[in-house]
Parts: sequence; C-alpha cells; structure tokens
Amino acid sequence: MTTLAFVGLGAMGDPMAAHLARHARDHGHRVLVWNRTAAKADAHAQTHGTQSVPLTEIAAADVIFTCLPTSAEVDEIMTALRDRLRPGAVWVDCTSGHPDAAARQADDLNRAGVTFLDAPVSGGTAGAQAGRLTVMVGGDPDALDRVRPHLAFAGKVVHVGGTGAGFSVKAVNNALLGVTLWATGEGLAILGRAGVNLGAALDVINASSGRSNASENLIPQRVLTREFPATFALGLLAKDAGIAVDLTQSVQGSAPVLAQVADLLRGAQRVVGDAEDHTAALKLIESMNDTVLK
Ligand code: NDP
Repeated sequence: MTTLAFVGLGAMGDPMAAHLARHARDHGHRVLVWNRTAAKADAHAQTHGTQSVPLTEIAAADVIFTCLPTSAEVDEIMTALRDRLRPGAVWVDCTSGHPDAAARQADDLNRAGVTFLDAPVSGGTAGAQAGRLTVMVGGDPDALDRVRPHLAFAGKVVHVGGTGAGFSVKAVNNALLGVTLWATGEGLAILGRAGVNLGAALDVINASSGRSNASENLIPQRVLTREFPATFALGLLAKDAGIAVDLTQSVQGSAPVLAQVADLLRGAQRVVGDAEDHTAALKLIESMNDTVLK
C-alpha cells in the first residue's frame, strides 16, 4: 500500500486532494491530509475518506504533495518534516513557487534521500474540481514517472526541464495571464469611454485576433457581471508576475512588458486588495478611466 499525503487544503488543494482520495480508493492506497486550519482537514476526511493527521505524521508518506501560497510556506513545512522523511519518498510541490527556492529545496531534500519535483498547476478551481489540471513538472524525469500514476487531479502532465523549470513556466504563464487581462481591460475601458457597448466589442474581439482567455472567459464571466468571484487571489497573481521578473533578472534577460504588468498588478493588489479575485485588478483601470466595465 502506498501512502500519499496532501498539505494545504485551500481553493486548489482541497479538490486536488479529493481526486487523490478517489484514486487511492480505487488502488488500495491511503491519503493523509494536513491543513493549518485543522477543521478543513477534518472536514476533508469526513467528506472524502482521507485521514486527517498531525503534521509530523505526514512525514511517513511515500509521496507528499504541497499546495501552499508561496515557497516560503513550503519552506516552513519542509523544515518541520525534514528529519522524519522516508528515504526514497518524492515531494511534489504544486505551489506556484519560486525557481530559486526549488533549487535549494531539492538540495535539502536530496540530503535526506528524498526527491523534490516542482509541479505547479494551471486550470483554476474549476480545473481542480474537474480533475483536469495541467501540471508542469521540473526535476528528475524518473521520479516523475514514479509519481505520475498518482497525479489524479491532472488532465495533462508535461515534464518541462530540470529543477525549477516547472515554477519558471508557471510564472511566465501567469505573467501572460496578467498581460492579457490588463491589456484587454485597458482596451475595453477606452471603448466604454467612446460609448461602445462592451458586450458587442467582446463579441467581435472573441471572433478576431485580439481574443484570449481573459476576453473569452474571465472578463465576460467575472468583470462585466460585476461578480468578481474570489477563486484566485489578486495577491497570488501579483506574486507570480513578480517571480517572472525575478527570472528575467536571473537569466539577465529583457522583458519590459512583463515587468510593467508585474508593477501594475502590485499596485492593483495594494489599491484593490490582496484577497480579491485577480480579475478585480481591472477596478484600478476603471478608476484610471472614470468608467465601469459592464
Ligand atoms: P488558498 O489561499 O485558497 O489556500 C492556501 C492554503 O495554504 C490553505 O490551505 C492555507 O491554510 C495554507 N497556508 C497558508 N499559509 C500557511 C502557512 N504559513 N502554513 C501552513 N499552511 C498555510 O490558495 P490557492 O489554493 O488558491 O493557491 C495555492 C497555490 O496554488 C498558490 O501558489 C497559487 O498561486 C496556486 N494556484 C492557484 C490557482 C487558483 O485558481 N486559485 C490556480 C493555479 C495555481 P488555511 O486553510 O489555514 O488558511
């Protein structure tokens, strides 16, 4: 029997761990869960048949999944568990983390005989609930092959390179989300000021070359409806764009558009609020243009 463990039952982790539980039931494995707010882990155990355990017991697992806000929280958990981990275990970090942290964490775990994979995910809470997430994995491909059967929350798994490559791809992907979201918001704000109906404008853009996930889904479903459902925090998107800027620096590259969007998202995070949905960043554009996107 393989013991799987999941740490961090947030908006993403909770449904991801539910898919692990389903997979475990079908294959005779068990799933341990731990969450900082213990009531969420207890509720997960009740609902999905996982086992809510004290943090130290997570160290007994063969495969440990983490899905926490940033690499800093993963560091805290790793420090608490490191001396108890089982040699041969694999640590799969599904946090949208930092590539520099991945290198350090992989070295650290390696000394304990444990392999680290950075394996951030894409697809949002809807993708997590449906078990259709895209997983971008950095690290040892043999370790990925060993854990691949357990990635029950995935629709697509891509090995993108060595340690840290998964986090790097995720940061760039989300910086691109920031670019399309922000730029489409700007475009619609000026169209609104020009008196154009925004629904009609999006109808055209979505049948034309300006379309994106922001124009097809995020803005019509979350902004024009004024719902801004908080499924992916603005603070987390700003963090991801900041990681893309750090990556630019570390490879001595030049990515001024990504840097500008990271700046804008940081400003929006401060003005609009950390915990608001990422699409609420467009409220800052509304203020800048004295208009409402509806
Ligand atoms: P949430 O804020 O919903 O959940 C965060 C989780 O981390 C909670 O379980 C929280 O515990 C736990 N946590 C926070 N701080 C600590 C700490 N100091 N020690 C231990 N546990 C802690 O975040 P998401 O699930 O939205 O995001 C998780 C990761 O996934 C992030 O890196 C994010 O960027 C990424 N992501 C998010 C997507 C989304 O659509 N939401 C999509 C793709 C990736 P508690 O319950 O006690 O607060």
